[in-house]
Amino acid sequence: MDQRTCPHCHSVLESWIGPPETGWGELFVCNNNDCHYYLTSNTCLVEQGGKECLGFRYAEDPMNNFSSFNLLSWFPASLKEKAQALANASNG
Ligand SMILES: [Zn+2]
Repeated sequence: MDQRTCPHCHSVLESWIGPPETGWGELFVCNNNDCHYYLTSNTCLVEQGGKECLGFRYAEDPMNNFSSFNLLSWFPASLKEKAQALANASNG
């Protein structure tokens, strides 16, 4: 099978087996922490008083003709600075 690559960062997507309760089966996920898509999709649940940050990784579902979707993923606080720098850069 051809390797799938992320259209945002061109990293090779990694095989990932979804949790059994999701019924997803095998997925292909961009695990690149430098992926622009991932870095710009993060959101922090500060309104709940915590510092829990989540982001969306680019993913494809081979069971659905490799259609792309957002895979909710933990977003480490250590990446926040990088994401912020990226946002500032894109603002000019
Ligand atoms: Zn990517």
